[in-house]
Amino acid sequence: MTNFVVEELCQNHTPFYYYDLNLLRSTLKAIKKSVTNRQYKVHYAVKANSNPIILKEISAAGFGADCVSGGEINAALYAGFPSDGIVYAGVGKSDEEIELGLNKNIGCFNVESVEELEIINQIAAKCGRVAKVALRVNPDIDAHTHEYITTGLAENKFGIALESLDHVIETATALENIALTGLHFHIGSQITILEPFKLLCEKINALTQKYSSKGIFFKTINVGGGLGIDYDDPDKNPIPDFKSYFEVFADNLTLRPDQELHFELGRSVVAQCGSLITKVLYVKKGLTKQFVIVDAGFTDLIRPALYGAHHVIQNLTSDGPIETYDVVGPICESSDCFGKNERLPLTRRGDLLALRSAGAYGEVMASQYNCRQLPGTMFSAD
Ligand SMILES: *Cc1c(COP(=O)(O)O)cnc(C)c1O
Repeated sequence: MTNFVVEELCQNHTPFYYYDLNLLRSTLKAIKKSVTNRQYKVHYAVKANSNPIILKEISAAGFGADCVSGGEINAALYAGFPSDGIVYAGVGKSDEEIELGLNKNIGCFNVESVEELEIINQIAAKCGRVAKVALRVNPDIDAHTHEYITTGLAENKFGIALESLDHVIETATALENIALTGLHFHIGSQITILEPFKLLCEKINALTQKYSSKGIFFKTINVGGGLGIDYDDPDKNPIPDFKSYFEVFADNLTLRPDQELHFELGRSVVAQCGSLITKVLYVKKGLTKQFVIVDAGFTDLIRPALYGAHHVIQNLTSDGPIETYDVVGPICESSDCFGKNERLPLTRRGDLLALRSAGAYGEVMASQYNCRQLPGTMFSAD
């Protein structure tokens, strides 16, 4: 559980991201402890948080990296991830990004279409390389999460439809500068029930069985990420239940002894170790409501405005009687609101608030809209 030392936090310019590196390290340890099968390998999804200090902690713990752009490949290499531990996914890879991946000799391209396969083959031939490729399959599974972060339904833009897979595998096998190594899946994000992962295992078993009967074997199976976290009570559940998550795969997925199973966890690794710290500028009494106006806005943390997400808001300064407030940012958009009817101790100008569970898809999505400065950072560790 994160301990906030207000005297230390006060010395920083607000708003800023506060990262509890002890919690990050405990989370990484918990993942390693839960991964008991040597065939399993976890690639951290860099897009959740690419802060160099966070990346270094994760690479030092021995994880691979799941990247979605050339910039992320460079960030991962700079942070010390080994190039063969890098997988590169994305529905729209540019020629320059493909070339970078080939020249850095990354572990795998996760490919989403025949069109992309052909381009990678061409560029690989030009560079005198063979690209290791996994095909991203759209398994048509409902992850029961927010519609913007569900990715494995037939109607989503991601992956290759099951109906087209035979054709894409044939094409991949025929291309000279492509080495088909695996199948890749990712069904969505912030998934808080394990049933969709079990369904995924069953779909994968059916597929690998079908192809092995045709003499086609896959060295790697990649089941993506998506494990959710407890946004409602970060102090009760600071570390997700990784043990149950990995057990679903151990219990339901059939692996051959020479196969590897890859995971791409993002949010569940970093979300709980980060908080956005913001200062109260004004407490404004409206006709029917009181507004707490803070110096952070959706430029610093966009999840509430983008997905209607809610982050627990904690007043770190006050322990007065409870009042009800709307907590809003300074940006000229009505969506710039962090919480409606929040019950907080009596709040005054100058108080520090923490928006909790903001370590994933927080700092990485910050923008400079309204000519605002990007949020700062502070790290704590023993
Ligand atoms: C975003 C993404 C992930 C990570 O998802 P989390 O929900 O943060 O675990 C993994 N794999 C792919 C392909 C992704 O797009």
